[in-house]
Amino acid sequence: MGRVLIIGAGGVGNVVVRKCASVPEVFSEIMLASRTLSKCEAIAKDITHVNIQTRQVDADNTNELIHLIQEFKPKLVINVALPYQDLTIMDACLATGVNYLDTANYEPKDVAKFEYSWQWAYQERYKERGIMAVLGCGFDPGQTQIYVAHAAKHHFDEIHYIDIVDCNAGDHGQAFATNFNPEINIREITQKGKYWENGEWVEIDPMSIHKPIEYPNIGSRESYLLYHEELESLVKNYPTIKRARFWMTFGQEYIKHLQVLQNVGMTGIKPVQFKGLEIIPLEFLKALLPEPGTLGENYTGETSIGVHIKGIKDGKIKTYYIWNNCKHQDAYKDAKAQGVSYTTGVPAMLGAKLMIQGVWKQAGVVNVEELDPDPFMSQIAKYGLPWQEAINIELPHEYPNE
Ligand code: NDP
Repeated sequence: MGRVLIIGAGGVGNVVVRKCASVPEVFSEIMLASRTLSKCEAIAKDITHVNIQTRQVDADNTNELIHLIQEFKPKLVINVALPYQDLTIMDACLATGVNYLDTANYEPKDVAKFEYSWQWAYQERYKERGIMAVLGCGFDPGQTQIYVAHAAKHHFDEIHYIDIVDCNAGDHGQAFATNFNPEINIREITQKGKYWENGEWVEIDPMSIHKPIEYPNIGSRESYLLYHEELESLVKNYPTIKRARFWMTFGQEYIKHLQVLQNVGMTGIKPVQFKGLEIIPLEFLKALLPEPGTLGENYTGETSIGVHIKGIKDGKIKTYYIWNNCKHQDAYKDAKAQGVSYTTGVPAMLGAKLMIQGVWKQAGVVNVEELDPDPFMSQIAKYGLPWQEAINIELPHEYPNE
């Protein structure tokens, strides 16, 4: 049906390639391109039932990307490299008139700041070109917003409160490792937290608000309030929201290591001189840490990610919880991946499938909650991420005066 170009051969890229290869009637030809060709080849070699083409590409270089796209002529580019490459890849798609999908919003390399303004700025140019960019189609961002769209369509007249709750109750057996790209992960966690309340953003010190939250099949886990990019698009697309927050669990060991690394300056992103070389401490730290794609084999336990919602239906207050639990070992069995790469790569593949099939089709730049959630929600279980919901249950949050 259509050729797909996948950029980035890391933990998530591996899952996207395998899941696309499992739907050959839609993804008629697959090319995997990344900075390190040997990583593309290792993934391709392991997939025997479908031929995966591989290429080396520097995705920071728009011209290289344009040449690659002109050579392969894909219907869609899936960007699962790093957020730093979002704009160069979007530029290349614009120049060649090809649709675009990613799983994380743009971040400039020299400031640990992520917001949608840079990518939303492409709106008119994508519309004029008649192509579509789907932003943030992983799990969070991604499936969490599709959960909200599903709730808005089928369960609420008005959504007032949202708490996205993300738990990884897994054990990879390493003293310290991150489940997605270490540089991006540490930049996210060490910056100030932020949430939306009564029409404005409230900023807090990193990890300064936390509380135990109960997760299905896992139990209670200390959960920390972080800023996460999907809050920005959700409060824009659902103006009735009074408060929107994001919570993520961290184990004590993880926090202890992170604090020590921060205290000694290893998480810094400003260059330092070392033996005549300029190095960025966080980039050096990344080189020492295990790659997310290598954690899968002995990973036990599961993730649980969902959304708590409170709002109004037919004039009455309603509460709602929708979630997915994913076992790391099931992810490994299905796609030789740990659960975090898996829960990101599966929604990316399904989003790509819906785009290639023309089910999700509109010119411009969209966040996933702006699309019809039904075709996604009816298929995602089949590809490995079943969802569950609970209605009118007690949610573990305090709500102001209602
Ligand atoms: P990895 O570090 O495992 O993989 C990133 C890949 O991108 C690597 O193969 C890397 O190449 C490649 N890459 C980096 N820079 C370039 C470049 N300039 N040109 C070409 N290729 C490049 O990260 P993950 O797979 O864990 O994460 C991938 C993306 O998914 C990230 O943007 C991350 O933020 C996002 N993500 C989204 C989630 C969600 O739920 N929405 C959750 C988890 C991740 P090399 O191998 O040479 O380093």
